[in-house]
Amino acid sequence: AKKNGRNQFAFYFDELNIGTNRGLLIDHELRRAIKNKEFVLHYQPKIDLTTNTIIGFEALVRWYNETLGFVPPNDFIPYAEEVGLIIPLSEVIIEKACLGWLALERAGYGHIPIAINISSIHFHQPNFIESIQEILQRNNCSPRNFEIELTERTVMNNEKETIRRLIQLKQLGFKLSIDDFGTGYSSLSYLVQFPLNHLKIDRSFIQLIGSVNEKQAVVDAIIQMAHRLHMKVIAEGVEQKEQVELLRNMGCDMIQGYYYSKPLPLEEAIDYVEFWKLEIEG
Ligand code: C2E
Ligand code: CA
Ligand code: CA
Ligand code: CA
Repeated sequence: AKKNGRNQFAFYFDELNIGTNRGLLIDHELRRAIKNKEFVLHYQPKIDLTTNTIIGFEALVRWYNETLGFVPPNDFIPYAEEVGLIIPLSEVIIEKACLGWLALERAGYGHIPIAINISSIHFHQPNFIESIQEILQRNNCSPRNFEIELTERTVMNNEKETIRRLIQLKQLGFKLSIDDFGTGYSSLSYLVQFPLNHLKIDRSFIQLIGSVNEKQAVVDAIIQMAHRLHMKVIAEGVEQKEQVELLRNMGCDMIQGYYYSKPLPLEEAIDYVEFWKLEIEG
């Protein structure tokens, strides 16, 4: 795995200047941040087009560091994976997601599940299921209130063991979804062997559906085929009304993106649910 990650490492080497003073600083700050649980989660709503309701929130990690400023997850998550910090970081994230759901529940919205992004390295860790269960139990949370988002690449690895794990998670009550669909090299016929609830079509496909006919055809085909395989589809990164209408006409089940809302701090996410309820009730 180390060898495989080599090129990636070279990439982030540039990105984060590993080995330089700034690189050392990032390493030092990240370790400290994990110890102090210096991360917050923002929550982005997922909207069901059929019922016009909020059917979930995706938790997205945010790191603001006093010395480094705001560091985007696309920088520090891959870095944490490279240097062996992803598991403790992921455990902090899962714990924060529990606190997020408990706050939702206190506000009266405990029926809305929270989706957590799980890195491939964490998912394939032998004790992953025990560790996530333990964190939920410690925080008085149940798997039925959480969804796990895994990328195509994660499930393309170690097929037999992956199926075993997904079935076990499903039996515990977790919902499961495939993230960034279309960017890996898996096919729907491969994914159908997994007990998945949702398929999330990557933003790169959604971005151009209004202007490029081929993109529209691909998204349409994914939706139709997913439905025949009894999976629900979420379109990611939806920003424009025109995209919502196209997706609705194609029978897309759910929408996530700036069109409805950016990822929001916990308090604002709860306000958003309240606002949505008032809108619907008129
Ligand atoms: P992702 O899981 O595919 O998350 C979706 C990303 O798209 C998020 O970026 C979100 O803020 C952004 N996004 C949502 N709607 C729109 C839209 O309409 N337009 C545009 N342009 N962007 C939109 P973010 O939060 O920067 O996260 C980037 C990636 O970092 C995530 O991609 C995920 O791979 C990773 N990540 C974020 N949080 C976590 C986490 O808690 N754990 C793990 N393992 N990875 C995470
Ligand atoms: Ca995701
Ligand atoms: Ca995604
Ligand atoms: Ca992504």
